[in-house]
Amino acid sequence: MQRTPLIAGNWKMHTSLAEAKALAGGVVSACKGLTDREVMIAPPFTALAAVAEVVRGSQVRLAGQNVCWEEQGAFTGEIAPGMLRELGCSMAIIGHSERRQIFGESDALVNRRVAGALRFGITPVLCFGETLAEREAGEAMAVLERQVRAGLAGIDVADPSTMVLAYEPVWAIGTGKTATEEQAQEAHEFVRNLLCDMYEKSIARQMRILYGGSVNSGNVDALLAQPDIDGALVGGAALKAESFERIIHFRQ
Ligand code: PEP
Repeated sequence: MQRTPLIAGNWKMHTSLAEAKALAGGVVSACKGLTDREVMIAPPFTALAAVAEVVRGSQVRLAGQNVCWEEQGAFTGEIAPGMLRELGCSMAIIGHSERRQIFGESDALVNRRVAGALRFGITPVLCFGETLAEREAGEAMAVLERQVRAGLAGIDVADPSTMVLAYEPVWAIGTGKTATEEQAQEAHEFVRNLLCDMYEKSIARQMRILYGGSVNSGNVDALLAQPDIDGALVGGAALKAESFERIIHFRQ
């Protein structure tokens, strides 16, 4: 099954406006001539408008780091899907473990965000992953199943290119500890089978599942060589154009 790999950079709460523009320029240059993979960047909201100017006309896709489900209204601190679209975003990260762990976002809230994004034509990058305690207790797959089923509850996926998932073991995010290729593949295969249970198989087999958690230029090739790993969601290593460039150019 052919799935176009996606390399996604999550800039989190980093970059001044000037840094964001320079980094985006580096990503645009790094992508020139690439036709067999997609690249996405998620700058902080404050830099989206400026970065949109830099990536205009390139193949780099722009994403929000979160998105609300409502069109507008009294939702202090939130950003509407239409606002993201107006800034040139076609994607949004949803349910990142930092949102879940630090800001208390529940599976049900994440599900509302996914539904809202799709309703307004934004492709979700739905993140899920177990903590170290959950893995050590032998509960990793049960946690993944709960988060994926709840995150996608009531969500119909007609076009698999409009739904991206990202397995991000919490213990591997920003820690320098990467899941081994075997650990990551085991989780991805488990989720692939779960999707086959939830959706028509032809659709489930085309949905991309990214791996995230201390991906860097040294481990990207081995991770992305796994049959069910369809790309990477990259934090720290996406903040330097050179390291992100090397990741974008992973060997298939
Ligand atoms: C992330 O932010 O989703 C992430 C995986 O971060 P890092 O690559 O720094 O572990």
